[in-house]
Amino acid sequence: MQQSVWPELDELKQELERVCELPRTGDEPLLTTASLAVTQATTALTRTAQLRGREAEQARAAALSAVEKARLALSQARTAILAAENRRQQVQRRGGTPPTEDSDKPGLAGHVEATCTACGRPFVVRYRYAKADATTVFPVSCPEPACDGTANVEYPTTAFQVEASPR
Ligand SMILES: [Zn+2]
Repeated sequence: MQQSVWPELDELKQELERVCELPRTGDEPLLTTASLAVTQATTALTRTAQLRGREAEQARAAALSAVEKARLALSQARTAILAAENRRQQVQRRGGTPPTEDSDKPGLAGHVEATCTACGRPFVVRYRYAKADATTVFPVSCPEPACDGTANVEYPTTAFQVEASPR
């Protein structure tokens, strides 16, 4: 590997690479900030090389402060990414933390009351559906074991997991 005149810069770029290799870095704004800080430090160091004497000294001091900032930004990005990944894993271990009771199941919940045309017993048809668009009328079997009657029930065309139970 080529030896750089700026070991600080090499260090920064390596750290940036390592942070970018962490899982799911895409949604971390601090990483964008850190990348920008590394770019600024690079620019500052490059400028230093083109100057001489007193100006170079001042530029060098500014560049080192930019390197410091970039280092800090990278470390914050790394912490944030790891913390986010940690939270994700904890949620997964708990089997998900649904904000509402049904949110771990797909779609929306709906139900409709029906009456069996054969035995006359009322029952409830519960279903889940993707969206409330058109409805369809469909015969649903009576939940009463001894009855093989049906009731015509109207529910969304996107309904699934349709279940009838006695009321
Ligand atoms: Zn029935």
